[in-house]
Amino acid sequence: MLEPLKSKLREKKGFIFDLDGCIYRGDRPIDGAPEAILALRGGGKRILFLTNNSTKTPSEYVEKLRRMGLCVEEREVLTSSVATAIYMRDLGIGGCFVVGEQGLISALEGGGFRILGADEAKMAKYVVCGLDTRLTYEKLAAACRAIQCGATFIATNLDPNMPVEEGYIPGAGAIVSALVTATRVKPIVIGKPSRIIMKIALEKIGLDKRDVVMVGDTLNIDIAAAKNARITSLLVLSGSTSVKDLAGSRVKPDEVIQSVAELKGLFY
Ligand SMILES: [Mg+2]
Repeated sequence: MLEPLKSKLREKKGFIFDLDGCIYRGDRPIDGAPEAILALRGGGKRILFLTNNSTKTPSEYVEKLRRMGLCVEEREVLTSSVATAIYMRDLGIGGCFVVGEQGLISALEGGGFRILGADEAKMAKYVVCGLDTRLTYEKLAAACRAIQCGATFIATNLDPNMPVEEGYIPGAGAIVSALVTATRVKPIVIGKPSRIIMKIALEKIGLDKRDVVMVGDTLNIDIAAAKNARITSLLVLSGSTSVKDLAGSRVKPDEVIQSVAELKGLFY
């Protein structure tokens, strides 16, 4: 890493990291990621891990990261599910019909929201949709009915797909699209690149946007989120974006590095 970029990054007080493609790939840490995080902590930097994946709870992420050799506290993890519950608290408590998994259900219950069954969906104040790998037509139909009855439609994120070893599988955005097509109602979107999650992330890390850098592997999600929130962006090429993708994209990061491993050398 060149000295001008090093000194620019050294001035920042906090680093917000995407997880998949940035800190790990699936179940394997990116080479050098634990050492990079350690170096940043040694330099007195605040850290926040920010993921659009709504399926796991922050404590499950802490466990996963610890297994990979990263020492992480639960307060340093923000998921789109937790951000959704924080955002909805300001809209008012009410019953929710959820298309999603335990990470989302736990976050909403923790925020004081009651989770409704399909038979009660018409009474829902909110329909909240995230990634649901056990999606059924019955759930989609109940969510559709609730939105028709006036429930506020909220999406944890619109990621179209998720990388797996053999390519990709449908993400939360693909499920949200089914409900948008059926109801013609557009949801409030919480996850990256929405400003909503970035505002909550800045509150959580306790820093001004000028003092923070956002590190991620996806142009349309991580880098766009940083741009929308006017935060310095750093693209890593260890995940879903290639040099060719970057050249062809209208979304351009402020800086590019191969992987977070380069951050190891920031302080020497
Ligand atoms: Mg990613």
